[in-house]
This record gives sequence, structure tokens and C-alpha cells, in this order.
Amino acid sequence: MKKNFDPATAIQNLEQFGEFGGVNPSITDSATFTFMTEEEMIKTFHGESEGCFLYSRHWNPSNRYLSEALAAMEGTELAWVTGSGMAAITTTLLQLVNSGDHIVTSVTTYGGTYAFLANYLKKFNIEVTFVNITDLESVEKAIRPNTKVLYTETMTNPMLQISNIPELAKITRTHGVKLVVDNTFTPMIFSPFKLGADIVVYSMTKFINGKNDAVAGAICASEEFINEISNVNDGTAMLLGPVLDPLRSSGILKNMATLHIRMQKHSENAMYMAKKFKELGLKFIYPGITEHPQHELMNQIMNKNFGYGGLIAIDLETAERAAPFMELMQQKGVGYHAVSLGYFKTLFSNSGKSTSSEVPEELQKEMGLSAGLVRFSVGLDHDIERSFNLVKESLEELHYI
Ligand SMILES: *Cc1c(COP(=O)(O)O)cnc(C)c1O
Repeated sequence: MKKNFDPATAIQNLEQFGEFGGVNPSITDSATFTFMTEEEMIKTFHGESEGCFLYSRHWNPSNRYLSEALAAMEGTELAWVTGSGMAAITTTLLQLVNSGDHIVTSVTTYGGTYAFLANYLKKFNIEVTFVNITDLESVEKAIRPNTKVLYTETMTNPMLQISNIPELAKITRTHGVKLVVDNTFTPMIFSPFKLGADIVVYSMTKFINGKNDAVAGAICASEEFINEISNVNDGTAMLLGPVLDPLRSSGILKNMATLHIRMQKHSENAMYMAKKFKELGLKFIYPGITEHPQHELMNQIMNKNFGYGGLIAIDLETAERAAPFMELMQQKGVGYHAVSLGYFKTLFSNSGKSTSSEVPEELQKEMGLSAGLVRFSVGLDHDIERSFNLVKESLEELHYI
């Protein structure tokens, strides 16, 4: 386990220039590319030509620059950028499994991921077992001879559990299974590949881009895997076509340069909230406090100096109590009653009714997801004290405290 990996410096050290010496890489706004010779084109189709671009569904120079930045951040050989986080997840999984195979997954994942695993993969006769990812014994027990993938999120949505990536990687290596990790909640804070994951996926819609102006995703992996997904004959990315638009890549690349500062500020503000929530005696989840069941684990495997993340959740027990609270917070200007995360404004939503609504209510209960869980993605507020006071006022006006 490498303790001193520094994803921020890895990005800062990149030297990517534009065609005319521009400090930002030029945007390649072309779907197709010319070849000087027929021979070169044929070689490119056979994957035998270095540095040639063929068609932008396959590779595009702007996407290549963003991929290099992502690979630098994760410590992987390469990355590939997709039109959404779901595209990154589904492309990766469909590449790794065949009909008749089996996947073991954390039961708490992003709602769309849950729905894909629970409902969609049935079409292809792919079986999925849902486990409590913090219970390593049950994870290992769930693995079968036909298991191809163990899937988890480093910090799970919305329970904010921490996956023990080094221990999970030991299990997957023993059984010849690929460990796929969604690190959307915690870019820079965790480096799952460095901790033993095989493939790291992202929704870049969230913290990585951080502007809520684009939907995008990424797959960070070995060069071999990226070549497999982009193979013209049988690559899932090449054939299903989920590629990111290069104009978007260019914007996201520039936003990555400030990601470390944003992560630090999101974490600092969320930690401020956590301390205040504790003083108020609220029931809440935040991995940065000693009471969190995986706090110690997080300390052991996190990269230092980026904090414990910007996500925090208050448990108000019922959806009926959560609803007026969120409406009042929005009226008072705490932030927006909206799904998604990683924005400069604070965003909040009731997980059970929104981003986890794909998970049946019975299962929500089973995994301990309270119907009144209000998840906050704490913003980059300069005056976080004011923001907290508005949260507190909302709780007081509703007589919750
Ligand atoms: C939002 C999200 C996704 C899906 O990403 P999109 O960009 O919306 O397709 C996947 N995983 C997590 C943890 C997310 O928060």
C-alpha cells in the first residue's frame, strides 16, 4: 500500500500543450481523420499503428489529453472517457462478463448501478449477488467458480461506508476475479488502483468536473483493458459507442487542475458541518468522525491532505420529516434541493426517494437506509458558519431540535 501517492501533483506535473504552444491543449473538433497512405489506415484498423487517430468514437486527441490526466491521477496506465458515469460502469461490466457469468456487488451503490445490476443484466443471463461490502467474510463466501467481477464504491452511496479495497483486492486476486471500484465520491482522497483495484470508474459529472454543466464518465485501467474496450472487432466501448464529446473533454480537463483545492474545501466544509451536527446531537453519517464504523480504516487507506470528503447525511427517520426540511433549507439559501453532488453550491436530497429510489423499499430497510436520510453534498461556501446556521434555523422552525 503506497501511502505517499500524490494525485494532485501527478496532474500538476503533466505537460500538455496546444498546437501553437497554447498552455491548454487544442480542441480537436473532428469526427474523422485523414491518412497519407492506405497502408497506414489498414494498420490503424488492425491496431498496429502508434499515435494515429482513426475516428472519434474510438479515440480523439482531446479525449486522449483528458484520459492522460485521469490516468495520472489514478496511477493507471491509461483511461477512456465516456458520455456519462453510467456509460463507464456499464461498458466496464459488459466487457468483463459473458452470459452465464456471475457478479458480486456491494448492495449499497448508486441507484442506477443497482438497477443495471439487479434488473438489466438479467437479459443476458448474468447473475448478481448483493452483499454487505464491509463484511469481508460474506463477500468471499459469495464468490462462485463463474464469478468474474467484484463491484463496489470506495465510499458507498448513500450510506458513506468505506470499502476495504486492500482486503477486497486480496480476495479477488485469490479467486481470479476483477475488482471494479467506483470512486466518484472520493477522487484524490482515495486511489483505489494503488490500493489494489483492477479498474476504477468515475462519474465525472460530480466532483471531477465540479461545475454541473456536463454529464461524463471515465474508466481508468491498464492499457490492455483500454485496448480491449476500444477494439474495433469486439470492444464494448467501440461497439456500443458511449464516447465523450471532445468539446466536453477539453472543459473537464481544465477543471481537473483545481480538483485538489476543491476537494480540500468540500471536505473542510463538510467537517465543519459534522462537528456542529455532533454538538446539536443529530443522528448523522460522516466518515471523518471517530464514531463512523470505518473511520479508522479510512485513516489507514486514504491519501493525506484532501480530507474526508464533501458528503454528509442527516437521518430524520421519515420521508415526511425530510420533505419540509429540504424545502425550508432551499428557501433560506442553504443550497439547492437537487440530486447530484460535487457542485460549488450545497445540494441536498432524500436518498431513498431520489438517487436510491431504484432500490426496493424492503431492501433499503435491510441495508439500513433510513427513509428520512437527507444527503448533503456540501458546497464550496466561503461562509460555512452562515450556511450551518441556516440549517440549524430550519431544524428549529420545524421543531426537530
Ligand atoms: C452519479 C453517479 C453515477 C452515475 O453517473 P452519471 O454521470 O450520472 O451517469 C455513478 N456512480 C455514482 C457514485 C454516482 O454518484
